[in-house]
Amino acid sequence: MASPPKIARFWIDTDVCLDQRSCVIEAPDLLQDRPVAGGPLIVSTATDTPEAYFQILNAAWACPVSAINVEFEDGSVHDGTTDYIRSICEKFG
Ligand code: SF4
Repeated sequence: MASPPKIARFWIDTDVCLDQRSCVIEAPDLLQDRPVAGGPLIVSTATDTPEAYFQILNAAWACPVSAINVEFEDGSVHDGTTDYIRSICEKFG
């Protein structure tokens, strides 16, 4: 990987989300807490800045139930359980 792969989109699997909000701490520009169940509030989907890009990857990595799914430009989808996101953070973060 010469440069980190772009993120096409990300989403929260609200069926497995525990609503504990550790993702909000990791990705404050993209996710916000809210006083209801059903996952964090997504306030931005823009991951084209380095800050936002690594915020959502760190959030996916930090999520205890891997509820954050990230689709990359090649169409592959990864969550925090795979080595893919970890390797990007270690190499480029
Ligand atoms: S860290 Fe994961 S389980 Fe916790 S609120 Fe965020 S998406 Fe849900």
